Amino acid sequence: MSSAFTPRVRWIIIGRDSDEHGTPRCQWCGGPVRIAPGEYSIQHVRARGMGGSRLADTGQPQNGTLVHGTGTTGCHGYIESHPVEAAERGFRIRQTQNPATTPMTLWDGRRVIRNPDGTLTPAA
Ligand SMILES: [Zn+2]
Repeated sequence: MSSAFTPRVRWIIIGRDSDEHGTPRCQWCGGPVRIAPGEYSIQHVRARGMGGSRLADTGQPQNGTLVHGTGTTGCHGYIESHPVEAAERGFRIRQTQNPATTPMTLWDGRRVIRNPDGTLTPAA
């Protein structure tokens, strides 16, 4: 399995992370996201490095979330440079954690589980 998100998986994630009007929303800050190079990224919640690329679910919808910017800019850059805050909200998880069962706290305070089929379930 590849660790990169395929175009199909990327569009599943963008659709899941869009609001009821179809506007893609950054899951970190809630702002609208323009789907254009440099403006957004699909962040790997469990990083690809340190063995993550060998895990079959690394490139699946449950391991991705839509955020502003790149690994060094915007909300994605903020997440990468604030690992404690990112871990508290579930935007960064350890290699031993399962992205399909680890809750994430979204920008509006909802705590959700990201399912492999591209849906969200409220976390218990
Ligand atoms: Zn944002």
